[in-house]
Amino acid sequence: MLKIGLTGGIASGKSVVAARLRELGAVLVDADALAREVVEPGTPGLARVADAFSTDVLTPDGGLDRARLGAVVFGHPERLAVLNGIIHPLVRERAAALVDAAHGGAVVVQDIPLLVETGQGKNFHLVLVVDAPDAVRVQRMVEHRNMRIEQARARMAAQASREDRLAAADVVLDNAGTKAELRAAVDRLWEHRLVPFALNLAGHKIAPRAGGPVLAAADPDWEGQARRLIARLQAAVPQDVLAVDHIGSTAVPGLDAKDVIDLQLSVRDLAAADRISPLLAAAGYPRWPGIISDNPKPSHPNPADWGKRLHANADPGRPVNLHIRAAGSPGWRYALCFRDWLRSDAEARADYVAEKGRVAGLHDVDKSTAGYAADKEGWFTGYAAPRMEAWVLRTGWQPPSYPPGSGANGAAGTAPGAASAAAPGTAQS
Ligand code: ATP
Repeated sequence: MLKIGLTGGIASGKSVVAARLRELGAVLVDADALAREVVEPGTPGLARVADAFSTDVLTPDGGLDRARLGAVVFGHPERLAVLNGIIHPLVRERAAALVDAAHGGAVVVQDIPLLVETGQGKNFHLVLVVDAPDAVRVQRMVEHRNMRIEQARARMAAQASREDRLAAADVVLDNAGTKAELRAAVDRLWEHRLVPFALNLAGHKIAPRAGGPVLAAADPDWEGQARRLIARLQAAVPQDVLAVDHIGSTAVPGLDAKDVIDLQLSVRDLAAADRISPLLAAAGYPRWPGIISDNPKPSHPNPADWGKRLHANADPGRPVNLHIRAAGSPGWRYALCFRDWLRSDAEARADYVAEKGRVAGLHDVDKSTAGYAADKEGWFTGYAAPRMEAWVLRTGWQPPSYPPGSGANGAAGTAPGAASAAAPGTAQS
């Protein structure tokens, strides 16, 4: 099942998007509708609200007087927190029941106005944010909802900022134009990303990769994307993961790279990697069959030490390689060290870009990423490895350590500079 979180500021156009997704075939779980449902007359939720705020917030026939409750809590953060403490867990419980009831191949869309404010993005395969400039939203509230400008602005100010919301977005649906344009954007997203993503998930398939070893200009957004992917992986695999690090060229600011985000997932041993494999597949990272090791480097030549598991994205919209390596193994150390060396050494970066350009040129016609990676290998072993090790000696760089009992999902044991890293010399990176 593909789980999508849909959010956006007040009057951004979420309902338009949600309605279109439902027409296209998504199962919609609407947090606002559930928030009304859990305080319907006679519910335990309503009884708790009346206990907390007195029966003044009830209508004469025992329903919830929303206008009155709104007046009681609006502008009083402590009261709002009490109300949210009653409503939000009930909504999540109902939402979870509806999600569980959906069939395995479904695209389940949860419309959650406060998704960003409540930090729920990591629980979804993708977060869609509907976005429109603040002035446009104010105008829509005034025109369609009879609000005064100050009222509309106050409602907006009580929510996350537009920047924070955009930072949580995997997909931004621009709603500065017409509703028809918004619906057309939803249709394209459905056809080209959501449907194939759901099919790949159900079939445990990696999304096909197109384009070959084309270098993209360094994208400042890669870091934020990696951060979101890491938070999701840590939420999806609560056991056996010591750390998840952004590695590879996209983890080095300013470095041109193939638009593939490499992540390294640290485990104690490869038996743990095999244990978590089904959870990774459900999180959108099926295993890449057949890849069981990195290419050994001269400083640690024993091929048996370079074992790994490789998983990759089911999402056709975001190529990701997920390298699972045992903490302390040479391939694991190389990935972290190479990234940190490139981050700190401009000359190393320039050399690496030149090498990538040379090798990409060789494979311009055959579009083979495997051939591209194999050709880079000589550079890694002959040129980069000795320079990197000299840098290690000079700077005293050390990889993180994870003493027994530490590091449940990266909570401890991360050494300075080890928050993310490079995946050199691997067949797919
Ligand atoms: P809320 O946060 O209050 O639930 P929402 O994000 O669901 O709001 P909508 O209800 O979809 O927002 O849209 C807000 C208002 O703006 C509605 O009256 C809707 O019809 C209107 N609207 C949405 N998109 C457009 C558009 N592109 N052009 C004109 N009006 C629009």
